[in-house]
Amino acid sequence: MTITIVGIGLIGGSMALSLRDYGFANHIIGVSRRPETAQKALELGLVDEILPLEEAIKKADIVIVATPVDLYVTILPTILDLIDNQIVIEVGSTKKIVIDAIRNHPKRANFVATHPMAGTEYSGPEAAIHDLFKNKLCVLCDAEDSKPEFVTKIEEMYQSIGMRIAFMNSTDHDRHTAYISHISHICSFALALTVLEKEKDEEAIFNLASTGFESTVRLAKSNPDTWVPIFRQNRDNVLSVLDEYINNLLKFKGLMLADSYEKLHEFFEEANKIKKILK
Ligand code: NAP
Repeated sequence: MTITIVGIGLIGGSMALSLRDYGFANHIIGVSRRPETAQKALELGLVDEILPLEEAIKKADIVIVATPVDLYVTILPTILDLIDNQIVIEVGSTKKIVIDAIRNHPKRANFVATHPMAGTEYSGPEAAIHDLFKNKLCVLCDAEDSKPEFVTKIEEMYQSIGMRIAFMNSTDHDRHTAYISHISHICSFALALTVLEKEKDEEAIFNLASTGFESTVRLAKSNPDTWVPIFRQNRDNVLSVLDEYINNLLKFKGLMLADSYEKLHEFFEEANKIKKILK
């Protein structure tokens, strides 16, 4: 099985490692924009060779696109133009706009939209790690528009690296990910900015940062090149989640201003119900 990965960063590089570790692929070709990224991916043993896009696609059984999501709307039609009968997938965090971009392409059925829901706050080929995907969920979107045998093959691929599979339509996917993934990044970026603005003393932040602060602010280390395109493509869902979040912050502030600590207690008890869902 030869797999071509376009965009060898955290997700593309980690896919390369897992696909080889678990024996699903025996030859991995990388396609990269910057020569230094290509060099790093070779040095780290993530890929066997680096080729130009057209050549890499011709040699592949499966093409995985793992660049920032804004590129998908232009690169996927190009890749679908170039393939014979290979499978093409992307791994993006947004789905509706991407699928709309190739909805009427004659090779649409060769494409499977996937979101392996695993990650870290780091990026680039150096961030790639073994077993990033083990015991995590992969969502396949609008799978009824893909060839059934290709959907089965991609399910097998993700299962081979330890993932569970869920099916969802792209509209629901984008709404749910705004709640469970995109808003947490906004909160983390905002918290980091708040602390950096108010606490100019970097040494104090470093010395006093407790595990609570560190875990809440972790996602603020994430790459803007990855996240700005995600917020742009999922703008409406993110804005409506943001409205709800701001309302909760205002409610919290109102209770503090009114010295309403009993009500604040009830507010937190309500929030504690998350324990029942996330143990
Ligand atoms: P990343 O570590 O920054 O990797 C993206 C890679 O894409 C970079 O190595 C970059 O390489 C390459 N790239 C950018 N433009 C390119 C182009 N025009 N042609 C070829 N390669 C190009 O980002 P990531 O976190 O892996 O994210 C990749 C995708 O996975 C995104 O669509 C994201 O939505 C999705 N995803 C991310 C997470 C997460 O937690 N981070 C989780 C699930 C899914 P160069 O240095 O050569 O530009």
